[in-house]
Amino acid sequence: MKVTDYIKAAEGRTLISFEVLPPLKGGRMEDIFTSLDPLMEFKPPFIDVTYHRQDFIYEKRESGFFEKVSVRKRPGTIGICASIMHRYGVDAVPHLICGGFTKDDTENALIDLNFLGINNVLALRGDPRKFDGKFVPEPGGNHYALDLVKQVQNMNEGKYLDSTIDDGATSDFCIGIAGYPEKHFESPNMELDLEFTKKKIEAGADYIVTQMFFDNQKYFDYVKACRAAGITVPIIPGLKPLTKRYQLNSIPRMFYINMPDGLVKEVLKCGDDKKAIKQVGIEWCSAQSKELKEFGVPCLHYYTMGDAKTITKVIEGI
Ligand code: FAD
Repeated sequence: MKVTDYIKAAEGRTLISFEVLPPLKGGRMEDIFTSLDPLMEFKPPFIDVTYHRQDFIYEKRESGFFEKVSVRKRPGTIGICASIMHRYGVDAVPHLICGGFTKDDTENALIDLNFLGINNVLALRGDPRKFDGKFVPEPGGNHYALDLVKQVQNMNEGKYLDSTIDDGATSDFCIGIAGYPEKHFESPNMELDLEFTKKKIEAGADYIVTQMFFDNQKYFDYVKACRAAGITVPIIPGLKPLTKRYQLNSIPRMFYINMPDGLVKEVLKCGDDKKAIKQVGIEWCSAQSKELKEFGVPCLHYYTMGDAKTITKVIEGI
């Protein structure tokens, strides 16, 4: 079933969903199951699986020279999706990115997903690789998430890259996209960011999942700005509990978001008490979730980071 159909069927009730990361290469599928099993009591209708492209690292050789080595730390997105659907009977939403994919690669991945009965995707551009500095599309690949949305929509209409296919099987993908309550870091301003977001909706995207935020007002303002800009699709808030003190700095650095003063003060008050810091993070995220639920959000989407215990405590606190 499609994410948007679950939202419609819920008739205003707030759903709960999760995002998981593939295990590091060499890891086991059981690692995913161990982190998901305890969360299934919350009856998520769908579970997202992130995609991690290949990157480069420099390894020092005996000669003293550095060698550029290609690594892909977390492969397996499509296989994990199939496995989740098979084990739990819930829908899986693979994240699909532009980075590292030619349009041909994307088409082949979409064909695989379609054959597997996976009919939801989250269409993203992907972040720049560490050594590129800015996002560089694969030669012959999609540059923006907008181009990827168009490609998925084309397949939904039976249009393939090979234009000689005139009776191609149609897919029926429900397309999610990313949204940024605190603006995408490359956008000059929110207005332009929303203009591009609207283009993705016009091209066929069905719903938005937001970047994490720790101040609900940012989400409320974002929804208001989207509605004013004519974006009418469901906007699912993405949430992550803070669990460690260093995240006060690492989360803003990695995700370009602000930490509200109230949260920062509460965490700093805990000093080195790791347990107390985690408890503050859990309570903060529970309070956020409660308020968002009262606001009537379609779904609370948790970035689990493999930590089922913490997420369970957050949800139990709602
Ligand atoms: P786009 O929509 O392409 O936007 C990128 C930037 O370009 C924005 O600043 C936008 O305003 C601008 N822009 C858009 N269209 C145009 C245009 N036509 N011309 C000029 N400028 C334009 N990354 C991963 O690698 N794997 C994941 O699994 C993953 N999951 C994510 C899940 C969520 C919910 C979110 C919020 C992010 C996720 N990301 C993931 C990170 C995401 O790939 C990055 O944030 C990336 O930098 C932007 O992706 P996008 O899809 O928003 O890009």
